[in-house]
Amino acid sequence: HAKDSGRGQVQQFSAALADRLETNLQIERDLRHALDHGEFALVFQPQVDLASGRTVGAEALLRWEHPLLGTRLPQSFIGRAEDSGLIAPIGDWVIDAAAAAAARWADHAGVARLAINVSPREIARPEFFSRLRAVLARHGAPASRLEIEITETLAMECGETVLAALAALRAEGVTIAIDDFGTGYSNLARLRALPLDKVKIDRSLIVDIAESEEARNVVHAVIGLIHGVGCLAVAEGVETEEQRAVLAVIGCDMIQGYAVARPMAEAAFGAWLNERAATPVVA
Ligand code: C2E
Ligand code: MG
Ligand code: MG
Ligand code: MG
Repeated sequence: HAKDSGRGQVQQFSAALADRLETNLQIERDLRHALDHGEFALVFQPQVDLASGRTVGAEALLRWEHPLLGTRLPQSFIGRAEDSGLIAPIGDWVIDAAAAAAARWADHAGVARLAINVSPREIARPEFFSRLRAVLARHGAPASRLEIEITETLAMECGETVLAALAALRAEGVTIAIDDFGTGYSNLARLRALPLDKVKIDRSLIVDIAESEEARNVVHAVIGLIHGVGCLAVAEGVETEEQRAVLAVIGCDMIQGYAVARPMAEAAFGAWLNERAATPVVA
């Protein structure tokens, strides 16, 4: 009977929805608990200049050290954090921890900048920019040590107020980078007009450049585009020496990925830097 089966579907749907609400509420409670109990941590992945082989910066990536589930990756909780608004206090935590790390690294010759990922919900808050400046000042970290990564989609969709605020930050020395370039859509006129220093080419474009000539051609063209708007090109997710070699030939400026190093806790990152400083640099 149509009506009965309809009712059954509604019941099933409500049960699934209730489950999901329950799970979401639980994750939100867990995220709040994590904030209050210091369960978040940053790991650091180096960015290397291809020509010189020098480590020129690092990206800070968020980890949740869950007491029961172990290390949880951002993809398992950032979406929830964004939907629930908890991304604001979590983002505040990230900025604070990154500024503290950037200030501690003042002695590490070469590692000029630390990049953080910022999501649309964070940057839309009016107090985001003033808070960022206050946190840098409190930790004694100069603006020039900080880099902000915004996704291609956010860069294309953010309003004039956010753009002006980013431009002001950039004028103070903060590096502005577009993340995951090539996964969204780009308005090229807008790309030209954005206050930008760096563009990070998404891993999905890098993954087959060693095997596919077409993939190589695409990345080569993208690098030309990036240079054409006066930015530096960074390849993300570089996993092999072959990929690294191709990127050097087609003029990529910097690389980041497992071929260089996996994201590391701060102590391991420091040890990695020291070890590299002691060995001859190979690009
Ligand atoms: P993303 O900013 O594009 O960061 C690069 C991701 O690729 C990281 O994943 C990194 O661990 C991974 N990766 C690096 N090299 C390689 C490689 O050679 N091969 C492969 N397969 N993967 C590589 P992770 O740490 O899981 O972060 C995922 C995403 O979560 C990030 O993508 C970023 O969008 C977001 N995220 C990370 N930390 C934060 C944060 O503090 N705040 C916000 N809002 N988002 C964050
Ligand atoms: Mg990033
Ligand atoms: Mg990225
Ligand atoms: Mg990516």
